[in-house]
Order: sequence, then C-alpha cells, then structure tokens
Amino acid sequence: MLISERCRNINPSKTLLIAEQAAAMREAGQDIIFMNAGEPDFDTPLHIKAAAMEGIQEGNTKYTPVGGTIQLKQAIVDKLKRENELDYETNEVMATAGAKQAIFNALMATVNKGDEVIIQAPYWTSYPEMIKLAGADPVILPTHADSNFKIKSRQLSDAITPFTKMIILNSPSNPTGSYYTEEDLQMLANVLVDHPKILILSDDVYEKILWDQEQFKNIVNTVPSFKNRSIVVNALSKSYAMTGWRLGYVAASAQIVEAMTKIQSQTTSNPCSISQVAAVAALSKNSQQSIEEMVSKYHNRYNYVAERISTLPGLTLSEAKGSLYAFPDATGLIQALKLKDDIELCQFLIEKAKVSVVPGSAFGAPNHIRLSYATSRSMIEKAFNRIEAAINEIIPNNNETES
Ligand code: PMP
Ligand code: GLU
Repeated sequence: MLISERCRNINPSKTLLIAEQAAAMREAGQDIIFMNAGEPDFDTPLHIKAAAMEGIQEGNTKYTPVGGTIQLKQAIVDKLKRENELDYETNEVMATAGAKQAIFNALMATVNKGDEVIIQAPYWTSYPEMIKLAGADPVILPTHADSNFKIKSRQLSDAITPFTKMIILNSPSNPTGSYYTEEDLQMLANVLVDHPKILILSDDVYEKILWDQEQFKNIVNTVPSFKNRSIVVNALSKSYAMTGWRLGYVAASAQIVEAMTKIQSQTTSNPCSISQVAAVAALSKNSQQSIEEMVSKYHNRYNYVAERISTLPGLTLSEAKGSLYAFPDATGLIQALKLKDDIELCQFLIEKAKVSVVPGSAFGAPNHIRLSYATSRSMIEKAFNRIEAAINEIIPNNNETES
C-alpha cells in the first residue's frame, strides 16, 4: 500500500474541503454565498500590514529561532500578562504556524500510542484527526443544547481512565459558540484536581470574539496551580483577521515548550519571519481598538442570524456567547424537506439557495448545520432570503405554519 496506515486512518479537514468546493463553484460562475468559512471577512488592520512591510524592507526575511524571535516571545509574554493576567517567561512560550500547528505539536510532544485524549462533541473538526495522527485515541463526550454544549463534571469523571493523557477545552467554541464561565471551569477543575497527570490543552483562539461583559477566562486563570499541566494555545488568525499569515502561539511549562520546539525544529522550523514581525505589532497594547470594532459587528450579525433562524421551520438555535458561528439543530427541517441527513441538507442549501454551510457531522453532531457569519450583514440577509425562498418552494405554507 502506497499510503501509510496513519494517513489512511484520518479524514481531510471537512471545513477546508467545503471551503474549496464552494470557491470552485463560485470560480465556475455560480453565485455562491459563503457561510461556511471560519475565517474573518475583515482585512488585517492597516498598522499590522505596515509593520510587516517595514519588516520586509528591514530584511526580516531569514530563518529565525525555531520558536520565534525573542521580540515576539516577549510580546507574547507581555500580552498574556496584560490581557490574561497569566505569568509566563520567554522560555515558556513559542510561536507556531497557526493554532493548528500548535495543537498538533502539543499532541506530538506529549501523547503516546494508546493514550486517550478527551474532547467534547460538537468539536472543532481537526481535533479527533490530530489526536489519531499523534497515535492516541480520541474519547468523545457528547454535549447537548440543554447543557449549553458544556461537559458536566460527572460526565468528565466517568470518562477518565488510567489511559487519559489530556483533555482539550475550546471556549468560546467552534462550532457552537458556547463559553465556559469561571464557574463551569471550576467544576471541571474539581474533577481534574484528583488526576494530576492529565494535561489540559486550552484552545483560546476565539478568546476575543466573546460578547459577555465579563472578561475572557481560561482554566489557568480559574486554577493558577494548573499552570504547569496546561498548554494554552492561541493565534492571531481570528482575533486580528490574520488567517493567511499563519501565526499562532503556545504557553506551557518550559519542558513542554522545549519538546514542542524540538518537533518544530525537525518539521517546519520557525513560523514565517514576516508574520512574526506583524505579530509583534498585533499583540501590542495599541492594537485593540480594531478588534473591538470587529467584535461589535460580529455580535450584531449573530443577533440578526439568530432572529432569521427563529423564523425558519425546523431549526432550533441555542444561544451562543461568541465565536463566528451559529449551530442550529436542523432535525425538524431535515424531516420537513424529506431529506436524509445534515449532509443532504447542506447539499440542498448549496444547490437550491446557493448558500454554502457546513454539516454538523463534520463536528461530531449530525443533524446540525454550522453557519458562519464572518461575512457582511447584507450578504447574510441575502443568504437568508434565498434559504427562506428555497424552503418555501418545498413547504409553501411555511410562513402560515410559523405565525
Ligand atoms: N482551533 C479552533 C477551535 C479553530 O476553529 C481553528 C480554525 N481556525 C484553529 C484552532 C486553527 O487556527 P489557525 O488558523 O490559527 O491554525
Ligand atoms: N477553523 C476554521 C473553521 O472551522 C478554518 C478552517 C479550519 O482550519 O478548519 O472553519
């Protein structure tokens, strides 16, 4: 067999696959509206681009230390202190090519064959595949709308075995937008405190896209003594609309950072030198205004999306606190349209409404769909008008039924 068992065992990223398919349809002349992409529609703020251009002029075009320049490491340390009240040294942080590489390297550096890694469903589509690539087994805890898509402490304690090596937490969540408050985290911590060997990976990439008044908190804020067993992952991708720059970062114990750096040194080397210069500008304290404007727009769009979803038949949305996504249960709509599942529903939406969304099964939650509102308000309005019209053609009395 030409292709390795390791590779045959995993699925390609469904979110990226769907993005490519939708882009190809648009390229072929079809008027597709993208509500699939987990990618900010805003441009990278100008001062960040300017810093990168200056960086090129100044010759920052060579290899850097594997885990990033000392300037960037210092900027990460300062950001974590200033914004998250977390104390790390420069040897406890590193830069990576996006959060994706950070998570993958963290797994490669810590898990062994036969280890178990706990994640919840709905999950970000790459977690189970990365866990498998690293040789471990994903243990998936189902969560539901009635618990706001959060793991319950009993569920966590029941899932822990002698093989459990890590739990991955993602709050605000892709795809549900649910957010673990300090109280929620404390309940999980009460279980984890009895299992000191379990590592906790906190994927904070949607940290800033959160619309509760309270400030974002992760498990290390909640339980500072967990610092040495936690791997905090973040990226510039979502917060600063910098998906293409591929810049993520990690804060963990010096031992874990050293192990991750070793893996990075033998695979990709340093993340892009120019993106690192841009990241120093992005993480500076003068950079925050542009984020507030973006987040306020996302929040308005979310409210609009929630309102439009509530007028469609057979879709039930539980409240999101942040991220870029609405994740309604579509069981009723699938039945009403006489379709088989969420995959057929997404097919129907792209063919009849020309709107691209992602099936919930990509996130371990069949019968749901993920709609990204990282697109302009007018596009979102157009998308819902089309979805409504496509549904009305099959269920003509939709409006009367709903009123
Ligand atoms: N974690 C989550 C929850 C995500 O949604 C994504 C997708 N962007 C990533 C990690 C990876 O981010 P990046 O693009 O920085 O690699
Ligand atoms: N994370 C984004 C998403 O879920 C971008 C694509 C990816 O890397 O999965 O759509």
